[in-house]
Amino acid sequence: MEQSLTPVAGASSVGALLDWARVRLASRRGSSGLDAEVLLGFALDRPRSSLIGFPERGVSAAETARYRRLIERREAGVPVAYLTGRREFYSLPLTVSSATLVPRPETELLVDKVLERLPTDGRSVVLDAGSGCGAVALAIKHRRPHCRMVAVECSAPALRVAVSNGVRLGLQVEWIRSHWFDALANACCDIIAANPPYVATGDEALVTGDLRHEPRLALDGGVDGLMSLRTIIAGTPRVLASGGTLLLEHGCDQTLPVRNLMDRAGLQGLETYLDLAGHDRVTVGRLP
Ligand code: GLN
Repeated sequence: MEQSLTPVAGASSVGALLDWARVRLASRRGSSGLDAEVLLGFALDRPRSSLIGFPERGVSAAETARYRRLIERREAGVPVAYLTGRREFYSLPLTVSSATLVPRPETELLVDKVLERLPTDGRSVVLDAGSGCGAVALAIKHRRPHCRMVAVECSAPALRVAVSNGVRLGLQVEWIRSHWFDALANACCDIIAANPPYVATGDEALVTGDLRHEPRLALDGGVDGLMSLRTIIAGTPRVLASGGTLLLEHGCDQTLPVRNLMDRAGLQGLETYLDLAGHDRVTVGRLP
């Protein structure tokens, strides 16, 4: 049953709109209150914090209509980041589009583990394999400005988003259109980080959840979810300099096969780290 706004088609107030949206979104998993507030801030072009203390503030009919459309799309599962075109990652405000995966909080762990291994004044060459909107590459370059940051991405529309994020943030990354390492020279990097597609093709989440709105290319890791991880691990001994490090994000149930693949590719000192939810998420290994 549709909750009515008062007045339904006309102007409203911040408080009435938030109450209406919270009810509309309540059946969705996750943070219906936060989503309602972020989207109202976006519709009114005001910071979210300025809404909370002023529920009686008036909202015009045009803004009310705009907000209704946003909430309806969110109700249909479209991620908030696609509705606003923005997402924060590692404290960087990023532009995202439906051509790029929405950067996830758990991927900040991948960045943490790269930064732990990257001296602040060093000139290492760091590669982000499968950059999407550029989140990982830009976060690393922001924290380690002396490193040479290279990123490969096979999707042209995703690469355009990454390039524009780099320009807007004033962070220099060498963006290369390439299927994984195809366009790269031998032993060209000291560190490789990747968050490749690792969801199994048959996983229901790809068709039922919010994931269905995100690019298949960035999520679907083949029948067992390991297809891209296999390609990356197999290609690593060619492009990674000796003594270099590979860091991979993967599914929480993929730790064993990922470690076996890395071991067989000659990577040593394997370590697996847990994300904030307590799930295995990142495995790291070093070439001798
Ligand atoms: N962590 C993502 C998810 O399950 C998957 C990301 C990926 O395949 N790289 O929603």
